[in-house]
Amino acid sequence: MAAAAHVQRENPDAKVVVVDRASACAQGNTARSAALVRNTFTSETNLWLTDSSIDFYKHLRDDRREEVGLKLYGYLWLMDAAGLEKNRAAIERMKAHKIEVELFDRSELERIPGLRCDFAGDEEAQVLRLRNIDHGLFGAKCGQIEPDLLTQVYERDFLRLGGRFRGVLSDLPLAPYNERSVEELHANVCVRLRQVRSPLRPLPKLR
Ligand SMILES: Cc1cc2nc3c(=O)[nH]c(=O)nc-3n(C[C@H](O)[C@H](O)[C@H](O)COP(=O)(O)OP(=O)(O)OC[C@H]3O[C@@H](n4cnc5c(N)ncnc54)[C@H](O)[C@@H]3O)c2cc1C
Repeated sequence: MAAAAHVQRENPDAKVVVVDRASACAQGNTARSAALVRNTFTSETNLWLTDSSIDFYKHLRDDRREEVGLKLYGYLWLMDAAGLEKNRAAIERMKAHKIEVELFDRSELERIPGLRCDFAGDEEAQVLRLRNIDHGLFGAKCGQIEPDLLTQVYERDFLRLGGRFRGVLSDLPLAPYNERSVEELHANVCVRLRQVRSPLRPLPKLR
């Protein structure tokens, strides 16, 4: 739905149709998702993608007054001294990208009620291969959203811009391009849409 809304916005003259086997959107993995969001990643690409996505959710909440269930309670990554060394370059990269991260040492972490840092003599911890905790990295701009509410925002934008949604109540014959041509795939989609008696014009040819 996000892709459809963006395609429709950037191509106002196009007739964009979202076709889904479900009768409404956000019924697939989106409905099952825990929808946790974070901007703490090792790769530069993910830093750009996730940080700007969370900015967009904040924009929806604060500027557009859309309820997307955004709760930024933060993530606390726990690690031993070796883990910190392994992640040091990534942490520096995050700081260079102005990602809000803060390092805590063990004496500070031990002040958190219920958080154990020392697993010496703990059989269960040995089975789970838990290592003692020496450091914690707190990512402040991490938390969760409500995926159905976010999808509804995109859906409203999409429909307002002239897009259309069609639930076809059965699987579309989707296949990778190397197995079936794009034209054949399009033809199948058109046939299926006619079967559900949707008054649609033929889909434009894909480039
Ligand atoms: C248990 C779980 C937990 C997750 N937790 C997180 C998390 O914490 N954070 C995070 O970022 N991501 C999480 N994810 C991943 C996230 O949910 C997905 O990346 C995201 O929802 C994908 O969105 P989508 O629109 O691409 O796919 P979907 O929401 O699955 O939508 C695909 C749509 O395609 C339709 N469809 C599929 N096949 C056909 C067909 N042949 N014909 C017609 N229609 C078809 C389906 O009906 C569905 O509506 C989680 C996923 C799961 C399953």
